[in-house]
Amino acid sequence: MAETARDPGKMQVSDEVAIQITAMNKWYGTFHVLRDINMTVRRGERIVICGPSGSGKSTLIRCINRLEEHQTGQIVVDGTELTSDLKNIDKVRSEVGMVFQHFNLFPHLTILENLTLAPIWVRKTPKKEAEEVAMHYLRKVKIPEQAAKYPGQLSGGQQQRVAIARSLCMKPRIMLFDEPTSALDPEMIKEVLDTMIELAQEGMTMLCVTHEMGFAQAVANRVIFMDQGQIVEQNEPREFFNNPKSERTKLFLSQIL
Ligand code: ADP
Ligand code: MG
Repeated sequence: MAETARDPGKMQVSDEVAIQITAMNKWYGTFHVLRDINMTVRRGERIVICGPSGSGKSTLIRCINRLEEHQTGQIVVDGTELTSDLKNIDKVRSEVGMVFQHFNLFPHLTILENLTLAPIWVRKTPKKEAEEVAMHYLRKVKIPEQAAKYPGQLSGGQQQRVAIARSLCMKPRIMLFDEPTSALDPEMIKEVLDTMIELAQEGMTMLCVTHEMGFAQAVANRVIFMDQGQIVEQNEPREFFNNPKSERTKLFLSQIL
């Protein structure tokens, strides 16, 4: 890991609020999946969300870019409140990039085509410019030589880096990651985490659902623990790992560390 990543406090966090969630609740049918969520993310913050399977982590971050709808309370992303108004949703989606466990690349398109598809068709960027931007981000994730290949010709780690580059091509101000390394073989995890560490060092506002606690310790300025739809505990990484307060957090940490 890069040396500068070891002191997360040194990376800049501004006073500006990137995401504000207030008294938010969500149900799937009668199942109360998110319970009274309150959370403020300042610009430049890097937050790791962890917790047992089924605790609502994916649902929470999917609510932030409106892949899921909440029922009560408020979610404000970059100053825009998420309501059922479609215009707002488009604005928010354009500011928020998302990377999933499964890379969701289009198998029949080349890597370059995967990266330029949305810029060309959604943003109406001229093809040549979209390709230049795509190559810039492919260099950034260190696989420019793969541009003409198809996803199936790349390793899992390379495909996930393409997925990150694809998000970056839309110039997001906030990046959401949902277990981006949990489908990868161990030897590929590091290359994806290194890419994420670099993004963090450049000041990207990041919310990462991950159980990579080394990553949390290296770059997070806050770790949030969720259980049964609630935020049970949150703290800066050192305190979170060395001095967990709740029994549920202690039990979870004893199972994963
Ligand atoms: P996590 O990401 O922490 O594993 P999820 O947010 O995926 O948790 O899921 C939280 C709970 O909501 C789980 O009990 C899951 O079964 C349930 N759930 C997730 N998606 C849906 C859905 N579309 N409809 C109904 N229940 C769902
Ligand atoms: Mg999940």
